Amino acid sequence: MTIIHNLGFPRIGAARELKRAQEAYWAGKADADSLLATGRALRARHWAIQAEAGAQWVPVGDFAWYDQILEWTTLLGAVPARFGQADDAPVELDTLFRMARGRAPSGTPAAACEMTKWFDTNYHYIVPELHPGQTYRIARESLFEQVAEAQALGHRARPVIPGPLTWLWLGKGDAYAGGAGDAAKLDLLPGLLAVYEQVLRRLAAQGVEWVQVDEPILVLDLPRAWREALAGVYARLAAQGPKLLLATYFGGIEHNLDVVRSLPVHGLHVDLVRAPDQQAAVLAALRDGQVLSLGVIDGRNVWRADLDRIHEQVRAAAARLGSRLWLAPSCSLLHSPIDLSLETALDKELRGWLSFAVQKLDELRLLRALVDGDADDLDRQALAAARQAVRDRAASARIHRRDVAARLAASDSIRRARAPFARRIAAQQARLGLPRYPTTTIGSFPQTPEIRALRRDWRAGTLGDAAYEKAIREEIERVVRFQEEIGLDVLVHGEPERNDMVEYFGELLAGFAFTAYGWVQSYGSRCVKPPLIYGDVARLAPMTVAWSAYAQSLTDKPVKGMLTGPVTILQWSFVRDDQPREQTCRQIALALRDEVLDLEQAGVTVIQIDEPAFREGLPLRRGDWAAYLDWAVDCFRLSTSGVRDDTQIHTHMCYSEFNDIIESIAAMDADVITIETSRSNMELLGAFEAFAYPNDIGPGVYDIHSPNVPREDWMVDLVRRAARRLPAERLWVNPDCGLKTRGWPETRSALQAMVQAARTLREAA
Ligand code: GLN
Ligand code: ZN
Repeated sequence: MTIIHNLGFPRIGAARELKRAQEAYWAGKADADSLLATGRALRARHWAIQAEAGAQWVPVGDFAWYDQILEWTTLLGAVPARFGQADDAPVELDTLFRMARGRAPSGTPAAACEMTKWFDTNYHYIVPELHPGQTYRIARESLFEQVAEAQALGHRARPVIPGPLTWLWLGKGDAYAGGAGDAAKLDLLPGLLAVYEQVLRRLAAQGVEWVQVDEPILVLDLPRAWREALAGVYARLAAQGPKLLLATYFGGIEHNLDVVRSLPVHGLHVDLVRAPDQQAAVLAALRDGQVLSLGVIDGRNVWRADLDRIHEQVRAAAARLGSRLWLAPSCSLLHSPIDLSLETALDKELRGWLSFAVQKLDELRLLRALVDGDADDLDRQALAAARQAVRDRAASARIHRRDVAARLAASDSIRRARAPFARRIAAQQARLGLPRYPTTTIGSFPQTPEIRALRRDWRAGTLGDAAYEKAIREEIERVVRFQEEIGLDVLVHGEPERNDMVEYFGELLAGFAFTAYGWVQSYGSRCVKPPLIYGDVARLAPMTVAWSAYAQSLTDKPVKGMLTGPVTILQWSFVRDDQPREQTCRQIALALRDEVLDLEQAGVTVIQIDEPAFREGLPLRRGDWAAYLDWAVDCFRLSTSGVRDDTQIHTHMCYSEFNDIIESIAAMDADVITIETSRSNMELLGAFEAFAYPNDIGPGVYDIHSPNVPREDWMVDLVRRAARRLPAERLWVNPDCGLKTRGWPETRSALQAMVQAARTLREAA
C-alpha cells in the first residue's frame, strides 16, 4: 500500500483559537496554564484529523507558539544576550515571546528579533541571530514533550525540524555581512551539529522511527561552500538512529541533485506542484532502498486537485518504487486555510471547486485509493464527486468572460508608451504648480474606532447607505481640511472607506470571492484572509471615482486618486491555477486601467497606484527574475499608460531593498515613486550609485510604524542626504507609508513637522 503523509498542519485552529489564547495571555487576561491547555487541545485535534485521514505518521514540531523557526532557535538555546537568558537554565515561554515581540508578561522588555518573509510565502519567521563562537545546547524540552504527547494519544509521531543548513541560512548577524549565503556562517556548523545529534538520539530513544528534516534552501541557488557542506552534515545526522526524510519545497532541486543524490538520507521529499518537471531526474537519482515522497497536493493554494491527472503523473514512480513511494501535499499546510466545511455562506458552486487543509488530506487518501486500485464504494462516490467538481470548474460559465478575453487579446495595441518623462513632468508642473520639495502622504489617515464602526454597521445593515455615505464624506472633508490647514501640497482623501487595500477592490471586481474563515497565519497571532481569484477579472463599475471626485471638489489643491496595483492584488490573493499568473495579473491591470481613466475624466490630476508587494513576487531563483519583472512591469504600465501627459502617476512601495530591481522600477515609469527609507536610514540611496533613477522620487522621511513624532531637523538632514545622490528638483517629502494605524495627535504633529522640514529645505535652496 502506498504511504500517505503530511509535512505540517496549520496550528492556529479553525476558529483561530491559538490567536485568541496568545493575545489573552499577552494582555494578562489569561494565565500560562490556559494558554498551554489551548495548545494541547489544538495539537490533539490536528493530529486526530491527520490520523483519521490515513496519514502514516503525525507531524510533531509543526506546532509553534509564535513561529516554528523561533521554536527551533530557542530549543538550540540561541537566545541573544539582551534577553538575559542564563546559560544553564531552560528557555522559558516568556523568553520566546520576548524574542518575538520585545515584551512578554514576565521579564524585562528588550528589542524584538527581526522578522522576515518565509521564502516566497506571506508567512513571516523570526530571524535567528548568529555570532561567531555562538554555542548551542538543548534548552527547551517542548519538542520531546510533544512527541510523548502524540504517542500517549496513540499516534506515530514524526518530528519535523529545520535542517541545520536552512537554519543557518536564515540567520543573520553583524559578523555575516555577506547575507544569507555568507560562508563564514558555516563555521558554526560543528557546534550546531553536536546538538542536532543529541536531539536525534533523544528522539530515537523515544521510539521515533522517522524525522523530517526541512531543507527548503535546496531549491535556491546555493553557493559552492554550502553545497559542499551538505555531505558532511548529513553523514553525521543520518548516523544517529532515526531515519531521515529530507524535505524540500517551493521549487525544484535538479540544480542541486548532484549533491543531494549522494546524501545518506533514507528519504527525499520534493515539490511536484511547483516543479513537476523534476520528477524524472529525481527518480533517476534515487538510490536503492531510498524512499521518494512526492508532493502532489498543492499546499499553497485552495483549489481542489485533479486526482486523475496526479494519478497519471505518479504512475511511473509508483510502478518502480512500490511501497517506497509516498504521497503528500507539496509543502506544509501552514499556508492553506483550515476547513472548507465552515464556509456555509460561500456560493455552492464555488465551494465545490475548493479544498482547504482538512479536505486536502482527504484528497490524498482518495489519491492513494486510486494509485493502489483499492477504492471502496464510498471512495468511488467521493472520486466521482471530485471528478465532477474538476469538470464543472473547467466548464463553468462563471470563469471565462468573452469581453475580458477579447480585451486581453487586443491589449498590445493600447499599450502605447507615454511621452518621455521630461515632457510629461513639464506638462504636469504647468498644471499643478507645485513648489520645490512637494509634500504629500501615502494615502490613508488614521482609521479611528469610529470609522471602523461605520463600515461594520454598514456591512451589517444597521447603517443605511445614505447615512454611511454621509458619514464617510464628512470624514473625507475633515481629512482634506486638515491637510489644507497644515499646508500639504498634494492631498489624499484618506481611504476611510477601505477595510483593506486588496479586499476593497476584490469586492468590487468580477472574478473574486471571499471566505468567512479562510484565515492563514501571517506571523505570530496575525492572520490574513486572502481573497480568491476564481475567474476572469473585470471591473463592473467605477470603484473609487465617487469618493475621489468628491474629495477633489472640496479643494483647489490636487487630491491623489488612490488605487492598489495589479501585482499587489495578485500577490495577496489565492490565484486561480488554470491559467498563468501573469495572465490573471494582466486582467486586473486592464480593470484598473479603466478606473485610472475614469478618475482622470472626473478631474483627478494625480493618481497613485500602490505596489507594496511588487518585490515579494520575485521568484526564488535569480534566473527566473527577468521573466517575472518583465510581466510585472508590463502590468503596471498597462494600468497607467492611457493617461494624458499632464496627469501625474505615482506609485508607492514599502521597502528599501531596491538595488537589485531598480532598473525594473524605473521601467514602470511612474512620474513619482514614494518609498520606505527612514527605518533603514536611506539605505536605498546605495541603489543610486550605479543607476541614475530618472523620475521623481519621495524617499520616506519618517517611520509611520512608530508613534514617535519625528524631529524636523532629522527629516531635513535625510532629504539633504538624498539630495547628494539625486537632483533636488526630483525629490518629494512624504512619510514612509500610510497612516491608518496611527492616532490623530501624533499624525498631526508629525505631518506639521514634515511640512516645516520642506519649508526649511525650500528656504535654504
Ligand atoms: N495607500 C495605502 C495606505 O496609505 C498604502 C498601504 C501600503 O503601502 N501597504 O494605506
Ligand atoms: Zn506602504
